[in-house]
Amino acid sequence: MEVIRKNAQSCEGAFLTDYAQDCAAFSWSQARTWMDGLPEGNGLNIAHEAVDRHATGPAAERTAIRWLGRDEGVSRELSYRDLAALSARFANMLDRLGVRAGEGVFVLCGRIPELYVAVLGALKTRCVVTPLFSAFGPEPIATRISIGAGRVLVTTTTLYRRKVAPVRAQLPSLEHVLVVRDDDLDELPEGTTELAPLLAAAADTYPIAPTAPSDPALLHFTSGTTGKPKGALHVHEAIVAHHATARFALDLRPGDRFWCTADPGWVTGTSYGILAPLSIGATLIVDEADFDAERWYDILAREAVEVWYTAPTAVRMMMKGGTAGARARNYPALRFIASVGEPLNPQAVRWGLDAFGLPIHDNWWQTETGGIMIANFAAMDIRPGSMGRPLPGIEAAIVRRRADGGVDPVATADTEGELALRVGWPSMFRTYLHEEERYRKCFSDDWYLSGDLARQDADGYFWFVGRADDVIKSAGHLIGPFEVESALMEHAAVAEAGVIGKPDDVVGEVVKAFVALKPGFAPDEALRRELLGFARKKLGPAVAPKEIDFQPSLPKTRSGKIMRRLLNARELGLPEGDTSTLEAL
Ligand code: ATP
Ligand code: MG
Repeated sequence: MEVIRKNAQSCEGAFLTDYAQDCAAFSWSQARTWMDGLPEGNGLNIAHEAVDRHATGPAAERTAIRWLGRDEGVSRELSYRDLAALSARFANMLDRLGVRAGEGVFVLCGRIPELYVAVLGALKTRCVVTPLFSAFGPEPIATRISIGAGRVLVTTTTLYRRKVAPVRAQLPSLEHVLVVRDDDLDELPEGTTELAPLLAAAADTYPIAPTAPSDPALLHFTSGTTGKPKGALHVHEAIVAHHATARFALDLRPGDRFWCTADPGWVTGTSYGILAPLSIGATLIVDEADFDAERWYDILAREAVEVWYTAPTAVRMMMKGGTAGARARNYPALRFIASVGEPLNPQAVRWGLDAFGLPIHDNWWQTETGGIMIANFAAMDIRPGSMGRPLPGIEAAIVRRRADGGVDPVATADTEGELALRVGWPSMFRTYLHEEERYRKCFSDDWYLSGDLARQDADGYFWFVGRADDVIKSAGHLIGPFEVESALMEHAAVAEAGVIGKPDDVVGEVVKAFVALKPGFAPDEALRRELLGFARKKLGPAVAPKEIDFQPSLPKTRSGKIMRRLLNARELGLPEGDTSTLEAL
């Protein structure tokens, strides 16, 4: 088996150098002691742990956020002290507006400093915060604000005019729309108030009211890869897990310059793009602009990023251009690269080594788990294609559901089943908002059932097989799309691959692959035959695709995940599984 070995240099100062012993020694009560707690025993509040505790200590002048504007040369730095003061102003302003604990505050902005101020300020007032992805259209915005009964929306004048004004009438709960001006018009849109003067008029200190660890804090929507997005509710205690998992799985240390490329509109962009790194006292690099490979290489080099957390979809886009762009710069500061959101093909792990001299560390979690659950750690050898091993405090298992609704852990190594987690970690979601029944169905016998299929090898590494809904049943075999996609990705011509089961009268389903090619390759019959043969050699005839369709690019969620359900719908000639789902994302 292919293994990327870690040496003493790559493990220096890293956590979990003795995985078994460190896991045995760890407990969540120990991780709770890493938190500061509100003054005078007033409980636990995410914003205090992320900002205020640093702002009153030796890290007060450290840069909390280094913001890079879309335009060349535009940047802004906020120290921990600045961020504490600005979020205090935001919290005081919410109090003055009469917004109360437990009410919904939505933030619909590009990655601008106000977004971070609003999220942290609203957490101080114990409101329930939801950052929304700014590329959403009006309908997905309205759906989410309705589900969360948003009372406050922070947005920009441009986004409001384009995306919120058309649906405002559908949002009776929405009382205050606070806008950041980003256009040249004198008039504010009707029904909005400008944020800046309200902040300027508010006091810059804010004593956080007593907060229970179980008080609701964040409402995150899932990516909508398998169906309609669900609203997962998280509590203040989640910060205990954010903090501990960022140390363990991202090797994050105080003062690190850390870049999480996920937008705060997704759970990764909030948990690890804002809260976890701030709680550790790192410096966030925030880039307002969208993905651009050359720009990203520049940022990694110029900003001396030390820890970089990104996603397979971005890695695949960089891989399209080979390694030349990455290798044209130097990254002496870069220490650790991690990825989440979709399976990371072994080819991508190797590409990291070629491009940056560092492997990419895959990790696995979900909106529902609130934090990283399974990871390739800095001090651990990597088996490319594996998601890694469970974090300290996390018990993961492969289980089979019984007919009576219970589950049985699978004792034999390398056996496929559903990936389950023993309940009880602090960042576990507390419900799907307004979908209590669906929430309950995720649990059985003390296990949270993830809906993903995986297997665990004899050394405890977990291997992703596919989502339960995506697994292909062909001539008595169960085939995980990830394995087939990874094999295709090994071919020099392939940029992206999505694999589904196409209904077949004889064998149930046949394996069908959709492939997007790298620049310079023509989608012709010769290449199709070559790819079919290539895959057959790697996978054997039972698992290899029987059909390959070339596509310019594959359908994806807004967060960049390949949507096999849309490929399926296309194959079946359905109206794209209702295309409205794409827009609803
Ligand atoms: P929805 O639940 O709405 O269908 P989603 O499951 O994509 O969307 P998220 O919570 O953002 O929403 O994503 C979690 C899922 O992403 C996991 O359940 C898993 O299927 C996939 N995933 C995340 N990280 C990895 C990984 N490292 N390897 C394989 N799959 C991953
Ligand atoms: Mg999901």
